[in-house]
Amino acid sequence: MSKPEGGPKRPETAVVTAGRKPFDHHGLVNPPVYHASTILHRTVEALEKEKPRYTYGRRLTPTIEALQDAICELEGGAGTVLCPSGLQACTLALMSVASAGDHVLVTDSVYGPTRTFCDKTLARFGVSTTYFDPLIGADIERLFRPNTRAVFLESPGSLTFEIQDVPAIAEAARAANVAVILDNTWATPLLFDAIGHGVDIAVMAATKYIVGHSDAMLGTVTATDKHLKRLRDTHGNLGLTVGPDDIYLGQRGLRTLAVRLKQHQINAMRLAEWLGERPEVARVLYPALPSDPGHAIWKRDFKGASGLFAVELKPCSDAAVAAMLNGMTLFGMGWSWGGYESLIVPARPTRTATKFDTKGPVIRIHAGLENVDDLLADLDAGLARLKNAA
Ligand SMILES: *Cc1c(COP(=O)(O)O)cnc(C)c1O
Repeated sequence: MSKPEGGPKRPETAVVTAGRKPFDHHGLVNPPVYHASTILHRTVEALEKEKPRYTYGRRLTPTIEALQDAICELEGGAGTVLCPSGLQACTLALMSVASAGDHVLVTDSVYGPTRTFCDKTLARFGVSTTYFDPLIGADIERLFRPNTRAVFLESPGSLTFEIQDVPAIAEAARAANVAVILDNTWATPLLFDAIGHGVDIAVMAATKYIVGHSDAMLGTVTATDKHLKRLRDTHGNLGLTVGPDDIYLGQRGLRTLAVRLKQHQINAMRLAEWLGERPEVARVLYPALPSDPGHAIWKRDFKGASGLFAVELKPCSDAAVAAMLNGMTLFGMGWSWGGYESLIVPARPTRTATKFDTKGPVIRIHAGLENVDDLLADLDAGLARLKNAA
């Protein structure tokens, strides 16, 4: 399933072909959208003894299978499960490896709701969490305890964009028999080969770039052989499933992922470079910029950058930031990202293990697929409002 015949396909080809079997479905290019709960069987033997492939709508349908197989092929894993949201994919990955009495290590740059899950829900089930410096590298080893089961990474970090040394952390974790989970939402397997860099369980908020059109919630979790059974059992026991129409939107978005990501990168790079030269801006947090502290590792490990980055403004009032953001015409203000449209929000990172040093306010930008000169004009007018209000 993970390695197509004739060797791995190039990513632009794989996103087009993965998970599709037209001649299993009357030649139709796209997989069918099967709405199912009950699946009938002709005989008692067929129901009970013959282990049919499809038994119940929650468990598996050709619609679920098509997207699972596609993601699994792109990730190069042993198997993939689908979740009703990206956050669920993060929490499921943790629940698949940690049991009561265990300990997990989580990067201090983690997506906020994943942190809340660890602090509130995992804690209630007897799993303790230690947050660590995203730049820790091989020194992660010093934080391992006899009951440490997982290291949870996110690279670049949510809101703050630190690039983690995933191979170094994975090597230390492997030696200590600790599972490595990575939230790979920003890069997708097209830009960062998580499993190839030593990750055991790769997670994506497919809501973002896979769906790509801001119209469905979806998560994926892909595991290596060693972790697949526990992942599938936990997923099944929790009763997780995704509606077929949302799965369809995921597989539909996937087909254009490679070409969309290229344009997101081109637009983000132009905006990031332009913002970096502006007097109102203190620094730009985007690992594709040579000036970014994570650039060397990003260049070593990644095949590209996506469209999300942040900017630290020079110290200014909240009112000045509001004047800038409230008047934007192309950049929408709203959570999530990864759709075709540009977004801008104030970012307020939470830290407990490290300090994220900023003097001015941080704003997060998603570069959409609009004409980049139009986006620059919108930002230019926004910075003029900021300056006038300061
Ligand atoms: C958005 C996001 C999630 C959560 O995804 P949802 O589909 O919104 O639940 C998880 N991790 C990262 C890095 C995200 O950006």
